[in-house]
Amino acid sequence: MTTPGEILHRYNIRPSRKLSQSFLMDVNTIHKIAGAGRILPGDIVVEIGAGIGVLTQDIAHVAGHVIAVEIDPRLVEILQDQFAGCANVEIYSGDILKFDFAYKSDQYKSKIKVIGNVPYNISSPVIFHLLSYRAVINNFTLMLQKEVVERLVSDPGHKSYGVPSVLLQMYADVERLFDVSATCFYPVPKVASSIITGEFREKPLIELTDETFFNRLVKASFAQRRKMLINNLKNAKFLETMSDSDINSALHEAAIDGKRRGETLTVEEFGLLSNIFKYRLTNPH
Ligand code: SAH
Repeated sequence: MTTPGEILHRYNIRPSRKLSQSFLMDVNTIHKIAGAGRILPGDIVVEIGAGIGVLTQDIAHVAGHVIAVEIDPRLVEILQDQFAGCANVEIYSGDILKFDFAYKSDQYKSKIKVIGNVPYNISSPVIFHLLSYRAVINNFTLMLQKEVVERLVSDPGHKSYGVPSVLLQMYADVERLFDVSATCFYPVPKVASSIITGEFREKPLIELTDETFFNRLVKASFAQRRKMLINNLKNAKFLETMSDSDINSALHEAAIDGKRRGETLTVEEFGLLSNIFKYRLTNPH
């Protein structure tokens, strides 16, 4: 394998801070991340932010086809140069947040595996973009800021449990794999990094009658973390047509004590609550 140092030197690359460029320098870590992706021969893989292509090299050894997505035109040129002779590597020049996973999945008649050292300035939008294409993605293995990974995998009752934990875990089975030291990167980032892996479920934990409504309900429940659930719900704009007793009765039907804090509710409880509130709003007595 061509080492990251050799590539940076050969092309005289100066990392852009604006694009959150922080290149993996440690070859063992690169192999470890590629291995964590559980890529099998024949797999269609999308790599987020391919950069100088070090992870791409590893993945391409196993995968059937790799689509290396990169937004920086200078790096796109370098990637094209490096992978000119590789029939199973396709360089996609553009923004991952505009990438159409459904189109690619359809083209290859296969679900997609996603991997990448994600630009940290777009971590949340990337997660939501993947969620919106979950029907065509089977799993993802991503390097993110450690705190972000903690939030995504957190269980009820923990300080880091919040909106992102619930919204992702409703649809995906997630796991934090390992941490990556800041010294493995150039330039050395100010934050610590971790690897998260996840698999989208065939069905969400609870069959939701309205996913947008679910998102709203979860956000409202965490609006003020220290408040009781009932008070957060009473303050929610989208529930304003419901009286206090309507809200109490909906909570009662879900067997959820309104005095609890949102952060103690399981993902399933949020799902149940969402369906009950949605039904009652649409069918007022
Ligand atoms: N995977 C490489 C680079 C990681 S740095 C490595 O590990 O060495 C993150 C990369 O994402 C950079 O190359 C940056 O240019 C790219 N990037 C930043 N914003 C992006 C976006 N919106 N869409 C696609 N790539 C992006």
